[in-house]
Order: sequence, then C-alpha cells, then structure tokens
Amino acid sequence: MNDTRKPSLTEQNRRLRERLKESEKKIEVQSQFIDRLCQSVGYDRLSDEWDKKKYLDRWVLDWLKPVRDYMQSNSGQPVTGIFINQVIQITEAAIMQLAIIGRYGIKLPLDSRPGDFEMYLQKNNNQLAKEYPPCVICGENRITHQCHIIPKAHGGKYHRDNLLDMCPLHHHLFDNGRLTKEEWQKLLASLDGKMDAAVQYVNTIHLNWQKYFWHEIPDAVYPNYTKKEER
Ligand SMILES: [Zn+2]
Repeated sequence: MNDTRKPSLTEQNRRLRERLKESEKKIEVQSQFIDRLCQSVGYDRLSDEWDKKKYLDRWVLDWLKPVRDYMQSNSGQPVTGIFINQVIQITEAAIMQLAIIGRYGIKLPLDSRPGDFEMYLQKNNNQLAKEYPPCVICGENRITHQCHIIPKAHGGKYHRDNLLDMCPLHHHLFDNGRLTKEEWQKLLASLDGKMDAAVQYVNTIHLNWQKYFWHEIPDAVYPNYTKKEER
C-alpha cells in the first residue's frame, strides 16, 4: 500500500525537472536585474578605455576621495547638521559624476550645492502672487517653471545655480533637445553664474541632443531619465 503512495520514478523525475526549470527562471530574472542595474549607472555606454573590472575598485575610491577629505579635515569637530548635509551633498555630487561619466563619458566638475530653501520660498511666493520671473529665452512671464539644468534624475540639485526660469514651452523644448539655434544662443547667455557642472552639462550633453535635432550629427545618446514624447 505504501508503495502506491510513493511517487513513481517518472513522477519524481518530472518534479525534479520542474524545480530545475524554476531555479533556471529565477537565475534568469536575477541576471536581467543585474543587467538593468549596470545599465542604470551607464556601464553599457562606457568608453573602451574604462574597463570596469580593471578600474572600478580604484575609481570608486577616487570618487569618494572628496568625502574622505572633508570628513578628515573636520575630524574632532562635533557632528552638526551642517556637517552631515555637507557629507551628503559631496557624496551625491560624486555619484552624479560617476553616473554621468559612465553614461556619457563626460566628467563633470565636482560641484556640490546644498538645497536652496530660500529659492524654494521665493518660488512659493511667486506662485501665490502669480508673479513669475520671465523665461530666459522668450521673456514670457504669465507663467514660468524653474527648470533643472542637470536633471533631478542625474543628481541635479534644486539650487539657483542649477535652475533656469523658462516658460512651459521652452522648458519642454530644452528637456527634449529641440530648441532652435537662436533660442540656444539665448539659453547660453543665461548661464552666467550657474554652477560649473551645470554649464558643462549644457555644453556637452544638451548640445549633443541639440546637434542631432539640427541634423548636424547622425546620432545622439539621449537621456532616458523619464518618458519623453516621440522624437
Ligand atoms: Zn519661453
């Protein structure tokens, strides 16, 4: 009687195969996840000279050097909120640099900025009073946005040094790399006093998308930080 309850060899074999298939599926899902993770920091777009296996260890230490330097230069001091914020900002700027060099092969200056609370209050006041600073491109002031030069998704800070006032149309055209050359010149003229990393982001990454739009280069690496309209 007991023998009849015990699964037959064929049945056991079938179950084993099923379990094997399940683990294969799990491994597949995990490896897809790792691939996506690598792509999200731009390994798929690394230039040839950066062999990730060879250089990554040393480079990670290089990226974190500014954080280490800052912490060492403040050792023995009480840990204040300002200290903590500064460490976070330098770390964020370093990660942003790492992601952008991975994706675009462009090293941005390590230009960290704190959150701009004053600017945030100003923005709220403007919205309440319905008084907006004019668009840097067309002067429209019925409504304007504070547009991130380095996008949030690439680590761009909400800080006046990384923000431009733009009307909704020009904001959208800027984000999608579809400004005309004339509009582009006006944008460049408004970059005075912005952070170095933001200026470099415009002059390299944004310019690349623009050149594609102007049919000056056949292909461009697009940002994929958010779903954009069809090009
Ligand atoms: Zn405008």
